[in-house]
Amino acid sequence: MTKDSEKCSFCGRLKKDTNILITGLDAHICDYCVTQAQTIINEEFSTKSSEQLSGIELLKPIEIKNYLDQYVIGQEEAKKVISVAVYNHFKRIMQPVDPHNEDDVEIEKSNIILVGETGTGKTLLARTIAKMLRVPFCIADATILTEAGYVGEDVESILSRLLQVADYNVGAAERGIIFIDEIDKIARKSDNPSITRDVSGEGVQQALLKLLEGSVVNVPPQGGRKHPEQKMIQINTQNILFITGGAFDGIGLKIASRLQTNIIGYSVDKKINPIDKDNLLQYISPPDLKSFGLIPEIVGRLPVVTYLNPLDKETLKRILIKPKNAIIKQFIKLFEMDNVTLTFDESVYDYVVDKSIEFKLGARGLRSILEAIMTDAMFELPSDKSIKKINVTKSYAEKQLNKTNISRLKVA
Ligand code: ADP
Repeated sequence: MTKDSEKCSFCGRLKKDTNILITGLDAHICDYCVTQAQTIINEEFSTKSSEQLSGIELLKPIEIKNYLDQYVIGQEEAKKVISVAVYNHFKRIMQPVDPHNEDDVEIEKSNIILVGETGTGKTLLARTIAKMLRVPFCIADATILTEAGYVGEDVESILSRLLQVADYNVGAAERGIIFIDEIDKIARKSDNPSITRDVSGEGVQQALLKLLEGSVVNVPPQGGRKHPEQKMIQINTQNILFITGGAFDGIGLKIASRLQTNIIGYSVDKKINPIDKDNLLQYISPPDLKSFGLIPEIVGRLPVVTYLNPLDKETLKRILIKPKNAIIKQFIKLFEMDNVTLTFDESVYDYVVDKSIEFKLGARGLRSILEAIMTDAMFELPSDKSIKKINVTKSYAEKQLNKTNISRLKVA
């Protein structure tokens, strides 16, 4: 075949009618057909991924909450809000993309911010959601992030982690959920942002903002710091749902002062809705996050604000025994594996809870206290085949706990 008569083996266009004709072993393809082929590939991939998604049973908010109820005690408001947000997230990502229909209402994502004292279940909520979901999920800690160029990790490293969880399937990662813990730690320290460079504060917030609002980000696949020779993977964060959490120590004062100002203006309200001063977090609203030091743009990108209650004695007791993988159930199972039936007197539960409150350890303390009580038994029983049953009484618990140096756990 002479050069002039060369033609595309797919559409038959002559070389002179194409912009470029690529020659293979014994065939040619023109640029038009390459473009066409690419479109077919894209369509095929997008149908495949929506088929994968349609295989997922879309749990209704009530069903999501019922699932959470099995693991997370109390925190009704937060569970409700998260259930709705996750449900909507699924609806968003399952929405067929129709580039020709410009009137399509695009559902925007509702990133969430959870405010609550440490140990009240923020991470547990996020982990439980992760267990239930079939989308990639990762937890990142805001405290390790620093502005590009400083010691620490770039904000993009959060996406590297998501990508790793998604087995480097970019499409799956782009529909994932990211939990960012300790978001309060990157709050601006001073009200005047321009005085000094704020390594861990405003700069990081600005970088994070880019991810939250949805953009295409170059991600180093292995995480860590970006460097020029590294191959990057592009990830679009538009459909990634961000759940953030933080203790926001001292935010109660900001809430109180805002409420106070409101009360002065509307004194009648005070009688209708008296303020519960013991749990001010329930009144948390976006302006409080701003006064705490989150930049307004970040607050704007975290439109769903909810709170977790401090854990009272009754809740701690339920946490100890009720959840599907409650600490007590875990110990019973451990002993069962050695063919020993383990039981507890009810008073032991109260004792463990009281100690956890006394040591100011909250829910986290329940496990350490119980470990301290059970260590001797766990050490000796596996070698003593004659013991088939053990019942823990309050006096045994007291004796064991006093023997250990548990009071070192006490928070001043
Ligand atoms: P946070 O992230 O708010 O600091 P975590 O979720 O890490 O707290 O909670 C610490 C531990 O306490 C969890 O692993 C869990 O065992 C227990 N816990 C805390 N809150 C709850 C809760 N509401 N229901 C059940 N367990 C809880």
